[in-house]
Amino acid sequence: MIYKNIDEIKNSNFPVIIIGSGPAGISVALKLEEKKIKSLIIEAGDEEYNHESQDYYEAKVIGDEINDLKYSRLRQFGGTSNQWGGWSKPMEDYNLSSWGINNQLSDYKKQTCKILNIKNQFRKSNLDNNFNQIEFQYSKVNFKEKYKQHINKSKYINLILNTQIINFYGQEKLTTHVECVYKKKKYLLKSKYFVLATGGVENSRILLWTRQITNLVDKDLPIGRNWMTHPWFIVGHGVLKKKELAKYLGNKFIDVDGPLHISSSKNFKDQNLLSGSLYMNSLENEKIYKEIVKDILCIAPNFGKKIARSFLKKDLKCGNIFFHFEELPNSNNRITLDKSIKDKNGVPITNLFYKKSNFTLKKSKIMIENFANTCRKLDLGRVAVKKNILDLKNYESLGVYHHIGGTTLGVNKKNSVVDINLKVHNNKNLFVTGSSVFPTSGYTNPTFTIIQLSLRLGEHISKKII
Ligand SMILES: Cc1cc2nc3c(=O)[nH]c(=O)nc-3n(C[C@H](O)[C@H](O)[C@H](O)COP(=O)(O)OP(=O)(O)OC[C@H]3O[C@@H](n4cnc5c(N)ncnc54)[C@H](O)[C@@H]3O)c2cc1C
Repeated sequence: MIYKNIDEIKNSNFPVIIIGSGPAGISVALKLEEKKIKSLIIEAGDEEYNHESQDYYEAKVIGDEINDLKYSRLRQFGGTSNQWGGWSKPMEDYNLSSWGINNQLSDYKKQTCKILNIKNQFRKSNLDNNFNQIEFQYSKVNFKEKYKQHINKSKYINLILNTQIINFYGQEKLTTHVECVYKKKKYLLKSKYFVLATGGVENSRILLWTRQITNLVDKDLPIGRNWMTHPWFIVGHGVLKKKELAKYLGNKFIDVDGPLHISSSKNFKDQNLLSGSLYMNSLENEKIYKEIVKDILCIAPNFGKKIARSFLKKDLKCGNIFFHFEELPNSNNRITLDKSIKDKNGVPITNLFYKKSNFTLKKSKIMIENFANTCRKLDLGRVAVKKNILDLKNYESLGVYHHIGGTTLGVNKKNSVVDINLKVHNNKNLFVTGSSVFPTSGYTNPTFTIIQLSLRLGEHISKKII
């Protein structure tokens, strides 16, 4: 049921209150609904985008420039899924293995695919010791559009829009209320379990503010620390002969129309290297193909002629080589609360301290050089590395849209904020979900993993209630 006015629910007692109606919050509610448990989703934004709501995402970035945090996420029903690209894939097992949750996420893979309306097919073909051809699925799901009618008719999922939560209250480590603002008036809503699902920046901000004004959250938890992304940049350009690759991989070749994806293997990561993936897009401008073929003709005329022929037969993946590369957690990259500027509800705005990682740049240089060697050795194509990567002179970020860390999961309270069940350490009933709990970034786009974690959280809470 979608409520129009908070007065209709202010005295209700929902066993679970979820804050945020993005992919994370809605997935928790869907799992609870499956178990016949009622929940209330509190959403700050309206059904459509509006500036007034978006203004609450005002933030300062200190350090290296990244996308304005006011616009790289959306404060409305459905959250940032109103503008996401839909690239979806589970995280590599070798990345998840350090999280301490074993294979638990794989139990939620099938349901995540159903939520995202994608095929449960993520093939992987081994190219050599260091690389695999991998497969993404592309979701077209906008959570508001897919779930609006569903929620409206649901006996279990309830939603109130235009209601912003400010902080949690409680005593003796038991969270009892959430304080929220609806049409400039403050309300306290109570529940047994609370789930914070407000995205990879706000989750830290709301916990930091709760800690500042209550004693509900431990003073020494590293809230906001280890904020990460996985940089996205162009590492070079080149050509890959699809036909040769298909011949080489035989029936394991993943033949799809979209971009060609290659990722580093477990073996590569095990050599104290980070994980990364690269892709070449088939839809790039023809001009760039021609430039690249011209370059190759100058350096390697015989190979260049072969390539030129493949070009005419449309047998090439050719153009810029895009990289998504893992970034290690660094506690200096962190979210804090601004000392002087507050939003209209009196909550300090976010300060994000972020410095690009030189380590990431060094490791990505090794990966692209290795990939260039693999292409040459197997005669699959040719790669030219971008000068700024070769010289280790910073990469040009194509945008920071994946906000990771800040409330990371773990066993040790010194370096994590939530436990492996996503409950805030030393708090009895306050949970956090979203990419803010990822302890490492991996290279994979995060939403698939966010949904798996959120379904698992819904299941965990349901076992406590039933
Ligand atoms: C341009 C772009 C492209 C992207 N492409 C991809 C992609 O291809 N693949 C991929 O996996 N990921 C992609 N992402 C990232 C993806 O959008 C996020 O991972 C995903 O939306 C996170 O889900 P979430 O529910 O945790 O957070 P969000 O979707 O951000 O939802 C958080 C919700 O909480 C609400 N909220 C915030 N503060 C409060 C408050 N105080 N009170 C109440 N409610 C509040 C917000 O209004 C919002 O509805 C992209 C992101 C961008 C910006």
